[in-house]
Amino acid sequence: MESIVIRKPKDVRLAERDIPQPGAGEVLIKVMASGICGTDIHIFNGEYLGAYPVIPGHEFSGVVTAAGDSVKRFKPGDRVAVEPNIACDNCLHCLNNRQNFCLNWQAVGVTLPGGMEQYVTVPEKAAFDIGGLPFEQAAFMEPLSCVIHGVERAQIALAGRVAVLGAGPIGNLLMQMARLQGASQITMLENNPGRAALARQMGADRVAERLDDLEIDAYDVIIDATGVIPVMNRSIDFARNGGTVLLFGVPASGKNVEFEAFKIFHKGLKLMSSYTSVRNSFQAIALLQTGQVKVAPLISHRLPLGEIAKAFELIENHDPLVKKVMILPNP
Ligand SMILES: [Zn+2]
Ligand SMILES: [Zn+2]
Repeated sequence: MESIVIRKPKDVRLAERDIPQPGAGEVLIKVMASGICGTDIHIFNGEYLGAYPVIPGHEFSGVVTAAGDSVKRFKPGDRVAVEPNIACDNCLHCLNNRQNFCLNWQAVGVTLPGGMEQYVTVPEKAAFDIGGLPFEQAAFMEPLSCVIHGVERAQIALAGRVAVLGAGPIGNLLMQMARLQGASQITMLENNPGRAALARQMGADRVAERLDDLEIDAYDVIIDATGVIPVMNRSIDFARNGGTVLLFGVPASGKNVEFEAFKIFHKGLKLMSSYTSVRNSFQAIALLQTGQVKVAPLISHRLPLGEIAKAFELIENHDPLVKKVMILPNP
């Protein structure tokens, strides 16, 4: 079978590997759709945790083709999406329902082979039944889970005013979730005209092109979805007194943000981050199945495994037409 391998930073290539066999408690999945995420770009650029080589892909769905011994919930033919974060369920954090901070954390597509290949094995507990949900939409289960976790942490109040900085696929999902949580007015920051147009089309009330077009001290909740340091540095300016700032976007590791400490104190801000998700997969699937969160319009490109270098280039060039790029390993 074909696999994408990031052998070291800036070195991505297609490799031939044997189709893995599912061990006890594992399922073998034929991968049908695998979304490229900012984290994959960070891994490609050498800006993320972990060792190389990496077979990337942590946002994917497919069909179970074999089940190992003792697998209870799945059989060949079942359609599934994968929750990539594998917790040990037996450490201090896992035992306190903080599986996202598992001390023995492993992740499909980061520390374990991921979905950018034709077949992959995952533990049964990482697989979730998607029913009839189209594969490309089901590939959003993981990013949507992270967004749900973040939005729940930010506690958007009914009729709240929200600003989402960045209207990429994640910013767009944050906007839709903020709406579902009852936000009355959502402003987005986006200078890419393609993404700005999509944000408007999908429900943003207003899209500001520049940071200076946002209102100062105005919003109940600010959510950064850029991970871009100069944007994050300004994020606290736009929150109202007593408001919340959620730093959701993933910055490159090793970079500092700079806030005026007195401003955080004087504005009484709640400043928070959000790390992956905690058991949000069922919520994500339900919101996708009911159409309460719409993801089909977020997909701009569908490419085979062999075009991964082109796919990374498309995303890094910030082309106005590029939204979510899906890799289809078994077209
Ligand atoms: Zn991701
Ligand atoms: Zn653990």
